[in-house]
Amino acid sequence: MALIVQKYGGTSVGSIERINAVADRVMASRKAGNDIVVVVSAMSGETDRLLGLASEISQAPAARELDVLLSTGEQVTIALLCIALNEMGCPAISYTGSQVRILTDDAHNKARILDIQDHNIRANLAEGKVVVVAGFQGVDEKGNITTLGRGGSDTTAVALAAAMKAHECHIYTDVDGVYTADPRIVSRARRLDSVTYEEMLEMASLGSKVLQIRSVEFAQKFHVQLRVLSSFEDGPGTLITEEDESMEQALISGIAQNKDEAKLTVVGVPDKPGIAHSILGPIADANIEVDMIVQNVGVDNTTDFTFTVHRNDYDKALGILNKTAKTLGAREVTGDKGIVKISVVGIGMRSHAGIASKMFNALAQEGINIMMISTSEIKISVVVDEKYLELGVRTLHSEFGLEQESA
Ligand code: ADP
Ligand code: ASP
Ligand code: MG
Repeated sequence: MALIVQKYGGTSVGSIERINAVADRVMASRKAGNDIVVVVSAMSGETDRLLGLASEISQAPAARELDVLLSTGEQVTIALLCIALNEMGCPAISYTGSQVRILTDDAHNKARILDIQDHNIRANLAEGKVVVVAGFQGVDEKGNITTLGRGGSDTTAVALAAAMKAHECHIYTDVDGVYTADPRIVSRARRLDSVTYEEMLEMASLGSKVLQIRSVEFAQKFHVQLRVLSSFEDGPGTLITEEDESMEQALISGIAQNKDEAKLTVVGVPDKPGIAHSILGPIADANIEVDMIVQNVGVDNTTDFTFTVHRNDYDKALGILNKTAKTLGAREVTGDKGIVKISVVGIGMRSHAGIASKMFNALAQEGINIMMISTSEIKISVVVDEKYLELGVRTLHSEFGLEQESA
């Protein structure tokens, strides 16, 4: 008997009809002779709805209470799915994160899983039951409910698969696999048969939110065979796995985009050692993550220092920078929320030169101005004006020959 962890996202459990369809799919795998642990998200839109309720009362709700609130979304779907399975004659039992005991640290709203106790789940599987676990949530050492950050049900599924040494972890969603670009932006994007953990990690980090970043980290660390599949139609999906000699070595695997960043510049800072530290130190102390950084070559003994942060942190970062600029004697602080980051990702880049110039040339041909650039061994990212998001992604997608053969 194989143990399979299946995860169904919000759209897949978005209505009673769809919950019944999920129950059918679970039953079919069960009948094929597998032990099944199911992880579900809240019904689509529910987590946002709950966040909306809290924000009607407070602009800064306590993180602990937000977790108590948000975790209810998944509690509804585990119960409904078990009711559906039972109704079909399939014995099933539901658990919240704390009932399983998915132990996390106490970082409310972005907790990390530390340990999973699986003895109850194993006992239930041995009794022939399907076990349904609430995604996105856990419990800290003191018994407080925690949540794992948006999209966290993916991580619950992969962590369970790792802890229980499952044969495979199947992520069922509203697309039939990982594509060369977000299919909502590029209609001619192509499904990938397989992608390496490393590439998927880059794509997820650069904005392809088909999988939560943490879930890919877990899968890579614990060698979980991860497959992204459609919950609406049968198909092979995309396997996320180790790099393998026999894998077709595409130069570029995909294009990712991220609309969540904003750019800040300290203009005219006196150019001397320690500038980066003086500017970024207070930003780090305020727990703001910095992504891309550019420091210009100084003229007139001054320099411009630009970096990007998450859009949600923009106002806070601007406030801090205005103070720092005064202390440093900088000319001014400017900022821009209307930017996007577009990236090309591929392990084939390691052994090929010229990808960057091809990318920059394609963008230039479309009149798209590049504001910032950053590279790693397997990716190149550029920051451009947000009005070029779709044009930029589509241009690069076709420039690197990623389109489906027939539209
Ligand atoms: P779920 O609710 O099932 O967790 P998500 O909305 O989190 O689903 O993830 C699926 C969505 O990810 C797709 O609808 C798609 O628009 C988006 N997406 C972004 N980039 C990609 C990509 N490269 N391949 C596939 N889907 C992508
Ligand atoms: N319900 C949570 C969210 O909307 C977790 C998830 O869907 O994975 O982010
Ligand atoms: Mg998701």
